[in-house]
Amino acid sequence: MTGLRPSTSYGALVLNATYEPLCVVSVRRAAVLVLAAKAIQVSDGDGFLHSARRVLPTPCVVRLTRYVRIPYRATIGMTRRAIFARDRWSCAYCTGPAETIDHVLPRSRGGPHVWENVVAACARCNHRKGDRTPAEMGWRLRTSPVAPTGAAWRVLGHRTPDPRWSSWLGVDPEPTDPLSLGEATA
Ligand SMILES: [Zn+2]
Repeated sequence: MTGLRPSTSYGALVLNATYEPLCVVSVRRAAVLVLAAKAIQVSDGDGFLHSARRVLPTPCVVRLTRYVRIPYRATIGMTRRAIFARDRWSCAYCTGPAETIDHVLPRSRGGPHVWENVVAACARCNHRKGDRTPAEMGWRLRTSPVAPTGAAWRVLGHRTPDPRWSSWLGVDPEPTDPLSLGEATA
């Protein structure tokens, strides 16, 4: 398998035998699954992969031949990166590039560290707001922060989906993460 080179930055979407989206792996890993007959290629990406014996269209979506049981966590881990991704890397107050995490109701005033009380914010807004609430500042949140849910978040986390996965993930094909390197290969 030495000549397998990925031609896309997205990787490949892996579906369970039931067509439920499972995870994203490198195109090389997806090709190995297909060559080992552990997965069937559902849709092709751009270009071809060359193995010692055969040429394979770059996998874009593959489906496992056998069902695997995956225990899912009920809630999405509230990492800094996940919060930025949910808020599309922009400040909840001024829409500028976000650099910090702000507690809407400040922690010093009993605000909990939960999805519903954290937003991405730029350093300037965060500093100006300090220990006050948006209402006290005369600011409005663009959207009410909520915990992300659904197959797309479970599978993708902060990744930018390949637009060709959208029908499997039930998500908008538009990219949500301007900082990621989601350039498509020609
Ligand atoms: Zn701001």
